[in-house]
Amino acid sequence: MATKQFKAESKRLLDLMINSIYTHREIFLRELISNASDALDKLYFRSLTDDSVAASREDLKIELSVDKEKRTLTVTDNGLGMTKDELENNLGTIAKSGSLNFKKENELKEDVDIIGQFGVGFYSAFMVSERVTVISRAFGEKEAWKWESEGAEGYTIEPCDKASWGTQIILTIKQNTEEDNYDEFLEQYRIQSIIKKYSDYIRYPITMEMEKERLKEGTGVDGKDPEYEKYTEVETLNSMVPIWRKSKDEVTDEDYNNFYKEKYYDFTDPLKVIHSKTEGAATYNALLFIPSKTPYNFYSKEYEKGLQLYANGVLIMDKCADLLPDYFSFVKGLVDSEDLSLNISREMLQHDRQLKIIAKSIEKKIKNELTKMLKNERETYEGFFKTFGLQLKFGVYNNYGANKDQLKDLLLFTSSFEDKYATLAEYVSRMKEEQKYIYYASGPSVSRIEHLPQAELVKDKGYEILYFTDDVDEFAIQMLMEYDGKQFKSISSGDLGLETEEEKQQLDKQTEENKGLFDFMKETLGDKVKGVRLSKRLKTHPVCLTSEGALSIEMEKVLNAMPNDQKVEANKMLEINASHPIFEKLTKLYDSDQEKLKEYCDMLYTQAMLIEGMPIEDPVAFSNQVCRLMVD
Ligand code: ADP
Ligand code: MG
Repeated sequence: MATKQFKAESKRLLDLMINSIYTHREIFLRELISNASDALDKLYFRSLTDDSVAASREDLKIELSVDKEKRTLTVTDNGLGMTKDELENNLGTIAKSGSLNFKKENELKEDVDIIGQFGVGFYSAFMVSERVTVISRAFGEKEAWKWESEGAEGYTIEPCDKASWGTQIILTIKQNTEEDNYDEFLEQYRIQSIIKKYSDYIRYPITMEMEKERLKEGTGVDGKDPEYEKYTEVETLNSMVPIWRKSKDEVTDEDYNNFYKEKYYDFTDPLKVIHSKTEGAATYNALLFIPSKTPYNFYSKEYEKGLQLYANGVLIMDKCADLLPDYFSFVKGLVDSEDLSLNISREMLQHDRQLKIIAKSIEKKIKNELTKMLKNERETYEGFFKTFGLQLKFGVYNNYGANKDQLKDLLLFTSSFEDKYATLAEYVSRMKEEQKYIYYASGPSVSRIEHLPQAELVKDKGYEILYFTDDVDEFAIQMLMEYDGKQFKSISSGDLGLETEEEKQQLDKQTEENKGLFDFMKETLGDKVKGVRLSKRLKTHPVCLTSEGALSIEMEKVLNAMPNDQKVEANKMLEINASHPIFEKLTKLYDSDQEKLKEYCDMLYTQAMLIEGMPIEDPVAFSNQVCRLMVD
């Protein structure tokens, strides 16, 4: 019989498995059990919609058996089984789901440690087996097939006999080596404990014929020596109670973590676990996880939010999006409710009143958990916010701010106060008595913002400035409009309300006196600016740009960077510092050399653009102007 080759990428994964020095090899059993359980689920699903499938739930099971002489460990299920094509396609290539994610994320680095922590699927059997034999008969088919492989060399496939549908996986366990003990995988107690550890919640019985010993009847009493006899007994190894149906004190942190990592393909323990039983308007168990890291495809279109939905312990939907608002889309987990019917369709679910109540209640739970974390575990929360804060900010912005009140107290910003995150409430509590606004400044980075000329006077007054470094920040804050009755104010737009009455009068006077100069400058710059004026925010710097109206210069940058044809433009004002020597120079040139004034005007505008991090129209011309000045 010809040996068929594995697909290239499968071969590499297989190589990794075979040569694995991973110490948690035991997870191979978890993988095989999970596949068997999937196959049982599939058959069960089919029975819900297809009357010809007479599989009743009670009959579905997974059986383990060990033959020490032959060194085999066999996993048998009576699930959906596989056809010849399926055997070849599913076992001859890296399977879709888990394994593929693994491959994408890790580009198959030779980092063996990762393997064991990840759902790597069927191939993990090769970590402990010298040969893997799969005998399978698909439901509804007469013929059965035997697939066999001794590793990277390839596999064979041939017809065989099998009395009923389902799959049998026979592992021929490797011989012990000097460093490695494989015999343990033929020990019933070892197997029992592996099942308890990883597969306890599997909802189908996992049984094994256990060899036991007992006192022979009539011995060990009345002065007779005790004699023992061996007998076998089929035992169910798993409790079948899913972890989320257990009470919290029955579940250890390790249980939660293992469950999470296995089920949601993460290497890292979750940051927070929310396990709750809810009764009332809706009755459900929820087990929710906030990951410690962003899921690898979180910011891509492929990422699908959603929770697994169980009706009375049976999975009815893998990613129920309606259970999570977008701003909590990073949450993983599941909901199990008695109030839902088993064969409810997706369309019906969307309109299900019960589901809506559950979704609302879950949203509240997540919010409460985050609020609690912010209050009691500040550092953990800050870690969370670094990872998922952007999502919350988008939540404030999206849907025209419909959820802003729900989320505003979960926001954090860095600020000029200290090198730490601040909540809006903390900002307000630190506001000076006479301070009118919550000040903020936008820019690409904290250091760029810190050096903005516009920030000088605000800081001088001792007012704190929130630093907005994410594109969405300003958009979100515009939705928020105010916090605790205090309006938000960009240091780069409009009137900052900083100057005293006296200073104001002085400025008005100067503005009046120099009206001709400013009009001239505006005319020189044309459409580039809406106006030129004296600044109320500059202290040592000569010029800056500010904006009028809802659209700021930062927002102009963000919007124009987006892939659409429509370009927007903020209403820009060029502001001149009246106490800077350059101002005096400008007034002089206005009277003596207007050609030169034009050139100065251009240069000041270009400088202001540079400070804002905006692209300048003609860098060569600017550079030439500077050089001309230098040789003057
Ligand atoms: P995954 O479970 O992530 O899809 P695996 O490598 O564990 O990846 O399994 C590959 C595929 O082989 C499964 O998706 C399934 O189609 C098939 N398979 C494995 N074991 C069984 C089984 N016991 N019964 C039916 N199909 C199975
Ligand atoms: Mg699998």
